[in-house]
Amino acid sequence: MARYHQAVCRLCRREGEKLFLKGDRCFKEKCAIEKRNTPPGQHGRRRGKMQGYGVQLREKQKVKRIYGVLEQQFRNYFKKASLKKGITGEILLTFLEKRLDNVVYRLGFATSRPQARQLVAHGHILVNGKRVDVANCQVKANDEISISQGTQKNVFVEQAVESAKGRGIPEWLELDREGFKGRVLREPRRSDILYPINEQLIVELYSK
Ligand code: SF4
Repeated sequence: MARYHQAVCRLCRREGEKLFLKGDRCFKEKCAIEKRNTPPGQHGRRRGKMQGYGVQLREKQKVKRIYGVLEQQFRNYFKKASLKKGITGEILLTFLEKRLDNVVYRLGFATSRPQARQLVAHGHILVNGKRVDVANCQVKANDEISISQGTQKNVFVEQAVESAKGRGIPEWLELDREGFKGRVLREPRRSDILYPINEQLIVELYSK
């Protein structure tokens, strides 16, 4: 599967805000946004103010980067969302939110979405008791997401569970921390997604 392999803090600096791609480091002073919130590159500081297309493009790039989705997959989500009844931008975000790697991160079994994706890809995550290694699998209401028994003692998972205690769990999920499992209570709603995202800009971009 194609993935972005370069320095991820550059992505945050490009968007000018924290995208939380590096786990615990994102909450510390070492965070590149805390230290140097300027666009990367030699001429980063000289970039002027964006308008119109540029603003729409940046919003789309930001959301792609938050959820770790590449362009074609993101377009596919948009296509699927636009075929559904309702507000396309909100449906797009709920598709992203229901990805298995995102749910593993939201439940606090990983410190970041990239780490969650790795847990899934390496077969450490069970959905309703069955191993699922596809990060973009969409979870449904009542699905039970758990960590395989052999992985529960993994030091990275233990650290992630510990550090996620202060982060809180979204209302559409339920967590049994001691049992290393969680449940999807209902479909996520737009109000459950607290990132500063203007999804309408993405809809406008793709509707051109
Ligand atoms: Fe972004 Fe985290 Fe790097 Fe800060 S530490 S710039 S939030 S990836």
